[in-house]
Amino acid sequence: MAHINDNYRKLPGNYLFSEIARRVAAYQSDNPSAKIIRLGIGDVTQPLPQVCVEAMKRAADELSHVETFRGYGPEQGYEFLRGAIAEHNYIRRGLNVNAEEIFISDGSKCDCGNIQEIFALDSRIAIADPVYPVYLDTNVMAGRTGALQSDGHFEGVTYLPCTADNNFSPEVPRGHVDLIYLCSPNNPTGTTLSKDALKKWIDYARANDAIILYDAAYAAYITEPDVPSSIFEIEGARECAIEFRSFSKTAGFTGTRCGYVVIPSGLTGAAADGERVPLKNLWLRRQTTKFNGTAYIVQRGAEAIYSDEGQAQVKKLVGYYMENAKIIREGLSSAGLTAYGGVNAPYIWLKTPDGEGSWEFFDRLLRTANVVGTPGAGFGPCGEGYFRLTSFGDRDKTIEAMNRIAAM
Ligand code: PLP
Repeated sequence: MAHINDNYRKLPGNYLFSEIARRVAAYQSDNPSAKIIRLGIGDVTQPLPQVCVEAMKRAADELSHVETFRGYGPEQGYEFLRGAIAEHNYIRRGLNVNAEEIFISDGSKCDCGNIQEIFALDSRIAIADPVYPVYLDTNVMAGRTGALQSDGHFEGVTYLPCTADNNFSPEVPRGHVDLIYLCSPNNPTGTTLSKDALKKWIDYARANDAIILYDAAYAAYITEPDVPSSIFEIEGARECAIEFRSFSKTAGFTGTRCGYVVIPSGLTGAAADGERVPLKNLWLRRQTTKFNGTAYIVQRGAEAIYSDEGQAQVKKLVGYYMENAKIIREGLSSAGLTAYGGVNAPYIWLKTPDGEGSWEFFDRLLRTANVVGTPGAGFGPCGEGYFRLTSFGDRDKTIEAMNRIAAM
């Protein structure tokens, strides 16, 4: 008999965005003339930077000639892209990260979800709450948690509450954990971790022989100069941190797919017999077995953002979304709502009025303003009472959505 992985059954049946889609479809079918504006899903809407498109066309052309054709590429990614990333995102900023420590992938979701495979099944995990659900769900699937409890928490997980009371900056736990998932700028709160906060986490991780899994998928959205873009800006991070980055929101690659992981050379974990094993070697072993590299055409497209022209085009693209974020933030506050984020991130996290539940607020916003957002409860128990809007929409629709919310 083929037994299934029962851990999958611990996960709640309805994936957040499927439930949203179901409710929106039901409303639209009952109200066919309603002009619904979607500020819910975190997908981008603006076209790829022209430099990327041109680089991909050139790469496609190369593949059409026998002399320049390429088949399987290196599993870790082509040197031209790893070198460009190391140079622009780290070395030029005075950070000690080299191309050998970078692993190109087909996006951060896979990296954030797969990284747990190289750690022991009995590792204790700590996860910011609310946060991108992939960290928790992949650990549930792997069997690193107990069952889902009635209060919305999985047994055996250390949740790190992020609320307005602690400025959405999770505090280090009192007890011991082995793996710590942090996301900054955070999805969904749109808030960031300061250098001081990160230093505390690094001190904790070093004292506990723990590893920080640092998701910086939205680093390109940081506008305030003192907010760290990389955990490697903080002293000691190379001894305890892995960083994830993505081209998805930086350059519109959500459909094109490209991301990367940085694993410092000296970073190790303990084997059962006590030997220290470089995590980079384990990840390379994992990737060479289960991954055959990101498409050459895509890697050439990603490389193009590091040209002067590419940097200018990416800045313009991010600037477009950040102007939307400003419109949303200001629109919500003039409607009398309390909102966070939206300064260093494309996400705006609003407090639902009068303690209204986040799904109730979702339904009310859909019915009265025909605007779709994401209920905070979908990102973790501490997201209850909050609601996420994204700035990835089209400008006119974003303005129209704010006008409708103001009229509510
Ligand atoms: N990390 C965070 C925090 C995200 O919000 C997302 C996507 O929404 C990802 C990673 C995944 O991005 P990618 O498109 O690179 O898989």
